Amino acid sequence: MELACLDLEGVLVPEIWIAFAERTGIEALRATTRDIPDYNVLMKQRLSLLDQHGLKIGDIQDVIATLEPLPGAVDFVDWLRERFQVIILSDTFYEFSQPLMRQLHWPTLFCHRLITDGSGRVVDYRLRQEDPKRASVKALHSLNYRVLAAGDSYNDTTMLSEADVGFLIHAPQNVIDEFPQFKSVDTLEELKVAFLEASERTLDL
Ligand SMILES: [Mg+2]
Repeated sequence: MELACLDLEGVLVPEIWIAFAERTGIEALRATTRDIPDYNVLMKQRLSLLDQHGLKIGDIQDVIATLEPLPGAVDFVDWLRERFQVIILSDTFYEFSQPLMRQLHWPTLFCHRLITDGSGRVVDYRLRQEDPKRASVKALHSLNYRVLAAGDSYNDTTMLSEADVGFLIHAPQNVIDEFPQFKSVDTLEELKVAFLEASERTLDL
């Protein structure tokens, strides 16, 4: 039995916070873990920026709903789901991903949750668990699945090393250089071929 696990942002959809910062013009929302390595500090800053600008969950979803998956991503996911069981392993939040997941035809998504109050204000967030991508692949192994995985950045590397076969896609050069053990591909078309070659089954293109 084989499963395909995919990262979401940077692989199938744009980086959500960066796209959101661009749409709203709130420059400080562009900060990522490269600028503020402590994820909890970064998230607290993001939530306080949302408050400062009076943005509630509905406003955020409205902006995100104007975003589209990356070119070819919808067809890619459809194609993959005909051939593998597919799970998206992401560090995004269900409340953010919804408009994009709708466009991707709702594949299974494991990610985190935002906490909102009765007025729709985002008051906090809940990470599902420590090192969630690696833990998910481990859990799937315990169910006797062979796991193929693909992602684009540092937060994917524990998932890729835990998987039976891991690929980098759309990865920046520093990640490619630091993790030469993972084959790197540039396009979703190349990733299709890579998944087929890595599969234990014989599948048609
Ligand atoms: Mg990513």
